[in-house]
Amino acid sequence: MTKIILKRKIALRIFNGHPWVFGNEVEKIIGEPNAGDIVDVFYHDDKFCGRGYYNAKSQIVVRLLTRKKEEINEQFFFDKIKQAWEYRQRIGYVENCRLIFGEADEMPALIIDKFNDYFVIQTLSFGMDKFKPFIVKALETIFKPKGIYERNDVPVRELEGLQQYKGFLSTPFSTNIIINENGLKFNVDIENGQKTGYFLDQQDNRRAIQHIVKGADVLGAFTYTGTFEIHAAHYGAKSVFGIDISENAVAQANKNAALNGLDNICKFEAMNAFDVLKNWGKEEKKYDVVMLDPPAFTKSRETISKAITGYKEINLRGMKLIKNGGFLVTSSCTNLVQPELFLHTIQQAAKDARKKIKQVVFNAQAADHPIVWGMENTNYLKFLIVEVRNM
Ligand code: SAH
Repeated sequence: MTKIILKRKIALRIFNGHPWVFGNEVEKIIGEPNAGDIVDVFYHDDKFCGRGYYNAKSQIVVRLLTRKKEEINEQFFFDKIKQAWEYRQRIGYVENCRLIFGEADEMPALIIDKFNDYFVIQTLSFGMDKFKPFIVKALETIFKPKGIYERNDVPVRELEGLQQYKGFLSTPFSTNIIINENGLKFNVDIENGQKTGYFLDQQDNRRAIQHIVKGADVLGAFTYTGTFEIHAAHYGAKSVFGIDISENAVAQANKNAALNGLDNICKFEAMNAFDVLKNWGKEEKKYDVVMLDPPAFTKSRETISKAITGYKEINLRGMKLIKNGGFLVTSSCTNLVQPELFLHTIQQAAKDARKKIKQVVFNAQAADHPIVWGMENTNYLKFLIVEVRNM
């Protein structure tokens, strides 16, 4: 097997358990590995570091799968997926969950979402992509699923020399399914929905709005298929208006409202949230609760400040639309904007909007997307509820 020898001065990151080896951390390669091959990684003093898969084309030349000298075979993947499922069950997930959250489950570049009997997979690196048959086999053995689908229509694959692709990994099935969440039902479009079809990462946070929406007039922006808004109606909101720029998402959201018998309370329209937040402020429209859940504003360090400006802008406008003593429910899924910076940005927005705010809830993503300390990008979602009062 190919040996990869690390430089004497490598980041403590690898030693402390992080699975990525960058090209500039490699001293020597003994052998001629092909993309996707399993290689052994050694520290400079020849001590064994771990075993992982190689790709010269990627900035991350090795992603470690284990720190033991164990075979990376069908059994290895079976054990890992079984262990991840047992973990989700132990922390309370029954029907739907992110079954594998990449690095946090020691399965770098692998995402598996479980939607009751259906599974959606993303293999985002060359090495992981090669193991798809083992992954599918493990899912079949453990779950006897009704369907497995691949949503590899993701641009990052191209950095690895892979093509974008989506399609069935099981016998074809109807890809419009219904899941249950917190006593509600939601349509999930596995084939054409955003990402894997549904945002499981907010599934715990959707319950956090329960008490603040009773009898409220609610405005939701960036609603996607209307999950937060339909929860608001379910928890007793008087009226809920949701906007998303995607016609598809809005159609799905209205369908979800009807599916739950809440279409008399919940309405969705396709609009640009930036325009709405700006223009409605001028009309003195007011809501008891405003909810914002925008897409990631940046994926690169160079444009963090632009993302911050975006967050400040929408939150400032959102706060101005809230009645005195109402609530702002706001999220950020940009992993480069770390929690402290996000809170600071909200504080700045409040200051400029001349509002006093009080923290009600501050969470990360749902616990089925585990945060591993030392792996910054596992801590990516910020979910905040604040009470908003006039100065
Ligand atoms: N709250 C949702 C997830 C929202 S994802 C849930 O929990 O399921 C972000 C959404 O923002 C996407 O649906 C996207 O279509 C929408 N979006 C992006 N830009 C927008 C804009 N300018 N105005 C309104 N919606 C926008």
